Amino acid sequence: MFNRSVVTLTGQMWKMLVGVVLMLVGSVAPAFESIGMSWTVGTIVATIAYGFVIVAITCPKCQQRWFLQALVHAEQYGPLFKGSACPVCSHDFSAGDYVR
Ligand SMILES: [Zn+2]
Repeated sequence: MFNRSVVTLTGQMWKMLVGVVLMLVGSVAPAFESIGMSWTVGTIVATIAYGFVIVAITCPKCQQRWFLQALVHAEQYGPLFKGSACPVCSHDFSAGDYVR
């Protein structure tokens, strides 16, 4: 689904997946008493995961933090998942260069 997205093309989809999984864990785990995670700890885990996604996923060409940009300009979320070019500097990553 996201194979041609700029996040995948730059080898950063793992950061996205780690962030999403930790956000889900932090949001859902406290609901299950047997897991032993308080709502406070869950909120901290989810917040750190969100911060990780914002800080860690950057454009290899112009160094912009894509999800920080998208937080300010919501219309940039689409190009991050559908387009093969950086929504800030327009560098096209479909050639396979810049894989980290
Ligand atoms: Zn860029």
